[in-house]
Amino acid sequence: MRTRKILLTENEIPDHWYNIMADMPNKPLPPLHPGTKEPIGPEALAPLFPMELIKQEVSAEKWVPIPDPVRDVYTMWRPTPLYRAYGLEKALDTPAKIYYKYEGVSPAGSHKPNTAVPQAYYNKMEGVKRITTETGAGQWGSALAFACNLFDIECEVYMVKISYDQKPYRKLMMNTWGAQVYASPTNLTQAGRQILAADPNSPGSLGIAISEAVERAATDEQTKYALGSVLNHVLMHQSIIGLEAIKQLEKAGDMPDVVVAPFGGGSNFAGIAFPFLRLNFEEGRTIRCIAAEPASCPKLTRGVFRYDFGDTVGMTPLLPMYTLGHNFVPAPIHAGGLRYHGAGVIVSQLLKDKLIEARAYDQLDCFEAGVLFARSEGIIPAPEATHALVTVLEEANAAREAGESRTILFNLCGHGHFDLKAYEDYFAQKLVKHEVTSAEIEASLAMLDTPLID
Ligand SMILES: *Cc1c(COP(=O)(O)O)cnc(C)c1O
Repeated sequence: MRTRKILLTENEIPDHWYNIMADMPNKPLPPLHPGTKEPIGPEALAPLFPMELIKQEVSAEKWVPIPDPVRDVYTMWRPTPLYRAYGLEKALDTPAKIYYKYEGVSPAGSHKPNTAVPQAYYNKMEGVKRITTETGAGQWGSALAFACNLFDIECEVYMVKISYDQKPYRKLMMNTWGAQVYASPTNLTQAGRQILAADPNSPGSLGIAISEAVERAATDEQTKYALGSVLNHVLMHQSIIGLEAIKQLEKAGDMPDVVVAPFGGGSNFAGIAFPFLRLNFEEGRTIRCIAAEPASCPKLTRGVFRYDFGDTVGMTPLLPMYTLGHNFVPAPIHAGGLRYHGAGVIVSQLLKDKLIEARAYDQLDCFEAGVLFARSEGIIPAPEATHALVTVLEEANAAREAGESRTILFNLCGHGHFDLKAYEDYFAQKLVKHEVTSAEIEASLAMLDTPLID
């Protein structure tokens, strides 16, 4: 019988994370203070994050040990399976070999617990009593709620009000793991009260929710803040995905020509791709790594590379990134996890240096690919993950047209069980083609007065 799932044992879970910073030919530029616009050091982050995570944020150490208690929690769902997509290959009639790493087997249903667990652990080690965060679509909030519960830390989630109303089951998941979930804007913070005073019916936004969660952490000694993407330590924690995938592909006697992942802030892309980029750096391989983003929020393919804020209000340090501008308001597409105006610093530098590629897709093409995948492989992908599927289809079709073999690996970063409303809208033909116009991008960028990079 042919092998569909390539599995590892629990002992084979990697014992170190990979830090790509050590291998980057050009290191990222430093973060700048939001007010003075001078470079800031790690100590500026101390009110928000525990020291160990701050050290990881600025570390250039290539291999960082995974603490045993974290590896122990990882065994709850890791190692995750690597699948050979025989069904999809057949449906596409392609000579390409397609593999996918499935991160939807985690308790929260996505790759996000890979970083939520170590973040909760390091906070616990440093005596933190409570962690605050924001969540839009709900994936990150549920991952953090799950992790905080395991380490006996209180978890406070500011959930964008419109999602809070539309996604009651994500909220209930967080409640089940013991988290407090608030519909943001709230009257618990000054940021929230200010918004409510101006508009009592505000639907909220990720930017507002970030401001509320950060304010809570900055004003309480016992409370810290956690972020589910973008930051260097988050990307490093996610490297567990690619490190496992390499072991699995070695078992299968294969190596990818192309590695693909959807792109929001960069964590699941980095997670699968960076360990393969290491092989490019160390062994001179030429594995292509492609990030797939929505045409309605195309920071990698149509944004600019300059300093920008991580949030809407302009409270965070200025980071060197590909951005559409921190005032950019993406259309309410269903891939909620990809609606972020900027890209992580490391991924941005790699794109600038042409060491990775990026492509953007319309949501209708994404759902079409998602349904094809569900019908050929069984798993219903998260709307975010369907973006990577379109790249996979393009690569598989190119292989067929060229009459050549090609090995494609992609990250199926989550299942879509809480996103079936999106599929309903797709089937009811309520989803429209959506691509942001150049005028919209220019208008948003024109508002920026943050430092340029030459
Ligand atoms: C959060 C999320 C994303 C986007 O975030 P990245 O940091 O770019 O990975 C993509 N897919 C799923 C399933 C998510 O939960």
